[in-house]
Amino acid sequence: MDYTVSKSEDAWREELGPEKYAVLRQAGTERAWTGELLDESRAGVYTCGACGAELFKSGTKFESDCGWPSFYESVRDDAVELLEDRSLGVVRTEVRCANCGSHLGHVFPDGFGTPTGDRYCMNSISLEFKPAE
Ligand SMILES: [Zn+2]
Repeated sequence: MDYTVSKSEDAWREELGPEKYAVLRQAGTERAWTGELLDESRAGVYTCGACGAELFKSGTKFESDCGWPSFYESVRDDAVELLEDRSLGVVRTEVRCANCGSHLGHVFPDGFGTPTGDRYCMNSISLEFKPAE
């Protein structure tokens, strides 16, 4: 897939720094309950930590008790890219930013009680939060 924002891995490494690079570009996972945005509850929009594209609205964030910021839907269907991930010996659905291809987290069909039933389980470090003005 061709992304709107495309950079060499060296350029990403330099721009993001080691912690963000490990998650966004190498599909790492931050430790549960450590993310800065876990308890963020203000109104606003969550953007991609690599390219700044808008990904999630605050109104779709919910308490999932999984240790990572969770949303029940993205701002638009085409804001994220979904890919099959078999890396842990189970089939999961990886979520990437559709604008730059950076790894955000996974989506699971267990967003119980939400309008979609989906749980976009996102690494806090993959996101930036922009409070509403
Ligand atoms: Zn992005």
